[in-house]
Amino acid sequence: MQTKPCNRCRGDTELMTSDSVSGEAEPLRITLKNLPLLACQQGHHQFVRPGFGAELLMHLVHEDEPELPAGEEKGFFRKKYLCENCSQSLEPKPDHRHTFSIEVQLKDIEPIDLELSMPVYKCSSCGKEQLHSQKEVLKLTPQALAHVFEAADIPPPPGAI
Ligand SMILES: [Zn+2]
Ligand SMILES: [Zn+2]
Repeated sequence: MQTKPCNRCRGDTELMTSDSVSGEAEPLRITLKNLPLLACQQGHHQFVRPGFGAELLMHLVHEDEPELPAGEEKGFFRKKYLCENCSQSLEPKPDHRHTFSIEVQLKDIEPIDLELSMPVYKCSSCGKEQLHSQKEVLKLTPQALAHVFEAADIPPPPGAI
């Protein structure tokens, strides 16, 4: 991949991979184990390409997170969550936190190893562990990811998410 000048000091940049970085939007925690980025001599970081943050978000929300085991949200005023396996009610209290490992494959970029940690709930009938609802995770993802990029010291590019 071609590098480009630093967007802060115009210095030359090099492609590098950040160490593990995490971001939270309670109770969701996202960790990127190998975030690719461009770094200059002064230590400024930027995305490998301007749309990278949005690409990663779209991939997660549209392709990866829909694969996670999750209950079905029912009810309007009092929410209930039903098991995706047997349609019985899920326990109201989380059982424990589970870390899901996801490999995100973006075009022309080495696969990114991502960990998504969320409380999981047990089905009172069949015992299957799952998220309460997918919607909950999808809603929290943009904020958690923004905090990941903050932790990696990458300012959002002008005009992006
Ligand atoms: Zn710089
Ligand atoms: Zn069940």
